[in-house]
Amino acid sequence: MASITEAEIRSILSTITAPDAQGSGGNIIDRGMVQGLVLREGHVGFTIEVDPALGDKLEPLRKSAEAAVMKLDGVLSVTAVLTAHKAPAAAQQQRPAAAGPGQKPGGAKALVPGVKHIIAIASGKGGVGKSTTATNLALAFTTLGLKVGLLDADIYGPSQPRLMGLSGRPESKDGKTLEPKQSFGVKVMSMGFLIEEDTPMIWRGPMVMSAITQLLREVNWGELDILVCDLPPGTGDAQLTMSQSVPLSGAVIVSTPQDIALLDAKKGLNMFRKVDVPVLGIIENMSYFSCPNCGHRTDIFAHGGAQREAAKFGVDFLGEIPLDIKIRETSDAGTPIVASDPTSPHSLAYGEIAAKVWNKLEKTPQRVAPRIVLQ
Ligand code: ADP
Repeated sequence: MASITEAEIRSILSTITAPDAQGSGGNIIDRGMVQGLVLREGHVGFTIEVDPALGDKLEPLRKSAEAAVMKLDGVLSVTAVLTAHKAPAAAQQQRPAAAGPGQKPGGAKALVPGVKHIIAIASGKGGVGKSTTATNLALAFTTLGLKVGLLDADIYGPSQPRLMGLSGRPESKDGKTLEPKQSFGVKVMSMGFLIEEDTPMIWRGPMVMSAITQLLREVNWGELDILVCDLPPGTGDAQLTMSQSVPLSGAVIVSTPQDIALLDAKKGLNMFRKVDVPVLGIIENMSYFSCPNCGHRTDIFAHGGAQREAAKFGVDFLGEIPLDIKIRETSDAGTPIVASDPTSPHSLAYGEIAAKVWNKLEKTPQRVAPRIVLQ
């Protein structure tokens, strides 16, 4: 199968004219409306930034952009998302830098009022310990005295209910907003509470977005210092949607030593960079083997790979967590190690990472210009 390039996608999208071009005949590429283009093994995702006033009138534009890209040889799926995160006047100029220190909100409404920082925990592929890390980091934030929420955005394989020892349906006091469940002082919401376990769900692009938006907005999170989002593994549509539709303060990439070598974590890095979400750093999970009997440490994989790669990519290395049966057993039992054995070396390692992340977040002003997703 022919492999598709970004240039080809941009070229076909430049045949699509923006309906609000007011006679200028501008196409959506020249007008800088296409952002966050992600291409992964034939799966294409991008956003079209539009004038919020035109809102749902632009659904045909979104559809024709998707259809145009779908026609290209080698394209397996296309997800285009309409977003409105800047004034229409700005859309006609070159795209400005991402919202950064000192930039004004520009009227954009925070998606989750009361939540100070939202961070994503991401990985290039599944099975690297992303969810385990998200859980233990969330717990480690509570040990810093912070008010913490944990959003299981891994809608394809929600594991936070099991990891946090929670089950049952969430309650709603007003019939509209769901109450998060609580475990070890962390507020938790997961699709796992709402769907039957082991029910295969087929998620289409717009469903992914509405599911994630609902888990964020239609949940009574209350006041939180930090909301930790366990993203689905990989760098596909759901991750792109999440990164585009949530005012993320930053992302943490979890990788095993061998996966970083296999480029999987780098894809994650690139994805967040493309959508202007700061990458707070990389955590090397299953970094070395710590023998449960004698405590002897063995570097089974090429330990240190993440640290080297992080330096190469100009990203901070946040720390390493060993491969230890205790981490797996406590996770399986719904009593994560940071909660059940808070003074163990592994819990302290999570604590150090949490402190580094929090310091970074507090030094970087809150991300003030969330992208409002219209469609
Ligand atoms: P992901 O979210 O990346 O798919 P999980 O967090 O579900 O990965 O972890 C995959 C498996 O590896 C789980 O059984 C988990 O208990 C185990 N695991 C994760 N991190 C560690 C670790 N540091 N030591 C031992 N087992 C781990």
